[in-house]
Amino acid sequence: MLYESTRGDKTRIPAAQAIVKGLATDRGLYTPSFIPTLSDEEIVTIATSDYKDVAKLVFSKFLTDFSADEIDACIKGAYENTFDTPEIAPLQQLDDNTSILELWHGPTCAFKDVALQALPYLLTTSMKITGESNKIAIIVATSGDTGKAALEGFKDVEGTSIVVMYPSEGVSLVQKQQMITQQGENVNVIAIKGNFDDAQTAAKNIFTNPDLEQQLLDKEIKLSSANSINWGRLLPQIVYYIKSSLDIETDKLIDYVVPTGNFGNILAGYYAKKMGAPIGKLICASNSNNVLTDFIKTGVYDRRREFVKTLSPSMDILISSNLERFLFELSDHDSDLIDSLMNKLDLQGYYEIPQQLKLKMQGLLEAEYCTDQQTQEAIKQCWDKYNYLLDTHTAVAYNVHQMNKSDNPTIIVSTASPFKFPQGVYTALNGEVDLTEYQILKELSNFTKWDIPAPIKDLENIPVLHNTVCDKKEIVDTIIGVIN
Ligand SMILES: *Cc1c(COP(=O)(O)O)cnc(C)c1O
Repeated sequence: MLYESTRGDKTRIPAAQAIVKGLATDRGLYTPSFIPTLSDEEIVTIATSDYKDVAKLVFSKFLTDFSADEIDACIKGAYENTFDTPEIAPLQQLDDNTSILELWHGPTCAFKDVALQALPYLLTTSMKITGESNKIAIIVATSGDTGKAALEGFKDVEGTSIVVMYPSEGVSLVQKQQMITQQGENVNVIAIKGNFDDAQTAAKNIFTNPDLEQQLLDKEIKLSSANSINWGRLLPQIVYYIKSSLDIETDKLIDYVVPTGNFGNILAGYYAKKMGAPIGKLICASNSNNVLTDFIKTGVYDRRREFVKTLSPSMDILISSNLERFLFELSDHDSDLIDSLMNKLDLQGYYEIPQQLKLKMQGLLEAEYCTDQQTQEAIKQCWDKYNYLLDTHTAVAYNVHQMNKSDNPTIIVSTASPFKFPQGVYTALNGEVDLTEYQILKELSNFTKWDIPAPIKDLENIPVLHNTVCDKKEIVDTIIGVIN
């Protein structure tokens, strides 16, 4: 299996190289040259397999340059004793037709752990395969959850260092505290005065600067990415779609409602469907930063709009990077088209896709969005009706699900523990209160009788280790300073 850039660089490279590199030199994203399918026999087998065995099969189809032992070791490292349940991604049934896929049982309580527990193993194995002798510096832009998950995954991993930049005003207190208390010899955390899009753009600029690349190579440092622009982030996410689609007993296809920001999670669902998993519609749920809702309905992607801070900060994104991979796939790898669309997005701030592509997209995806008020109503409604506590991101999906007319069984993808966003969740249940966020955390647990997950419980007592703040214009220089 070889990987190619979405933007026209015709060099095809094996998985290990794509994972080490992160982003292609032409700013494109590495994408599999074809999507492998599951045979009927394989589907029958994995229908009764556990999570790790499904992961082994899926990984082996995409990582053909890894040995079976190497794949086994990656999966063992990623999923053995790192999640608080051996199921890794348990399904909770709400009613006959609706289930919740809980993806937040990992060490940082968000779905990013599913991929970021695996990525360090995938990366170090890839470095072994490609004979990489340089040190790898991982640059991460985060809207809140990726940062901590990447820090946990990469802390003290030999041959690597990691720099995380987060929007100083754009994350929840729990998210921020999780990052600035991070321990490890090879970690750096920087607050930026900007939003996620600024951070992601700065990261892409750093990756595609040839002078900088040479300057770092002279010091035996290579850059890579732990954002979902790295193929190693997407691959592990395909597994839980396949696994959960086979776990629901039904003859019908299963619809998924996915709370979406950078389009990585929902893209993994699309790959799972293409591989042959019994998946129906993929429903893209957005918050008030509803650039994707508009795009899926009209075919026009227009980022020229106000950036809104919402109760679901991990989805406060206007430039959804992985849409590029989806359009590449949908257009049968028309890299000229993708290159021109992405240039238009950079230069003019919008693009429109051809009519035929739009119709093809609309056959696969649906999209709706919801406001903060609707998000909080969804949390209250779900609690009152099912005694089930949603976080503010999953609540966006829950609300959007109410608008879905299909009678297929539906899985709502749950991306974070409610205790990561205690303020928004508690207020939804009980209205505004005059308490600190840590007090609210405890109140939320008292009120719901749900336990605060261990990784969040004692956060307020852990010493702060990182307090660098930098201006939007200084991001690139600050990062380079830190790496050097
Ligand atoms: C990252 C994140 C999302 C958005 O996922 P994408 O892959 O960027 O679409 C949704 N919810 C939570 C809690 C997240 O951390």
